[in-house]
Amino acid sequence: MKIKSYEVAALNVPETDPLANMEEEKGRTRPVVILRLRTDSGIEGIGVTFYGGKMTGSLRVAVGELAALTVGEDPLRIEKIVAKLRAAADSSGPGGIFTLALSAIDIALWDIKGKALEQPLWKLLGGHRDRVPTYASGSLRRGLTHDQAQEAAHTLVKKGFKQMKTQMGLPGNPPPAEEVRRVRVVREAIGPDIALMCDINQRWRPEQAIDIGSRCEDVGLFWLEDVTTADDYQGLARVTAALKTPIAGGEYVWGIVPFRHMIEARSVDIVMVDIARVGGVSQWMKVAGMAEAFNLPIVSHVMPEILVHVVAACPNGLTVEYMPWMIALYEETPAIENGELVLPDKPGLGLKFDEKAIAAFKA
Ligand SMILES: [Mg+2]
Repeated sequence: MKIKSYEVAALNVPETDPLANMEEEKGRTRPVVILRLRTDSGIEGIGVTFYGGKMTGSLRVAVGELAALTVGEDPLRIEKIVAKLRAAADSSGPGGIFTLALSAIDIALWDIKGKALEQPLWKLLGGHRDRVPTYASGSLRRGLTHDQAQEAAHTLVKKGFKQMKTQMGLPGNPPPAEEVRRVRVVREAIGPDIALMCDINQRWRPEQAIDIGSRCEDVGLFWLEDVTTADDYQGLARVTAALKTPIAGGEYVWGIVPFRHMIEARSVDIVMVDIARVGGVSQWMKVAGMAEAFNLPIVSHVMPEILVHVVAACPNGLTVEYMPWMIALYEETPAIENGELVLPDKPGLGLKFDEKAIAAFKA
């Protein structure tokens, strides 16, 4: 089997909140690049990447340039192709647009491999379990009032979510007591048995994280995420050592090597890996193995319809972030039953682009 052709498109996907209907702003869109890699045996693999922002046109071109280099290659030899692309891109990696583009290619190659071998990706990668816990993400944002956050939290509980994430690092940098109020009001709304995570998105200094984190230890948070600058491994380690609440982090770092430094420094209790920034499925799985060797759980970042496969594959996969930013791209995505995502039986990613939606989202 050989790769025969490819098609790349930039899309603007509407930024809705299908989980709790608490949109930040009506009509806003998120730029995304999609890829179709076609083989001479008729199998087509799909890939997605983003974080191009105002450079999404450049990201679309980068995906096309790398995809052109895969034509004629055996799609089952993924590491050979990755090495070829790295070499061809010279020193434009290891982070940035090169890695974002590589991720789309790598995801599409794994989709092809699954389809060629007639196995769903999660089974090909290890198949540890066929259902994984998932948490609602993107609804309980820091921009909401406390009342709105409570209302959204109620909606998520009614929908059957057993885990959900809110945010601190509130707008205007309020006093610590006001920050802590956010997690308290959400906890009040959901009761003691729902797992509650909280994302800071790098907005605190390490000493602020220790102060505010200590004040909310009794809220029983499942984790505090990205409490300070993502590559301040020592600063993170100080916070992790100081707090009883587990610290999660890793979505903002690029490639696999920073995870080595992060884990060796004991910067986090829970390793979070973003598939676009790490370099696709192949690299995601390598970080998962690294975390396992250090007795650390691993969690996903966004795109649950794809990440559910890698989390389910690993023995140390903890939970899948259900951030439904891209589900509108597909005809169907994995169902949630009893707070868990059900892994698909279909080969590869088990996803099919919704062609009508794709046409409507064309940038
Ligand atoms: Mg985050």
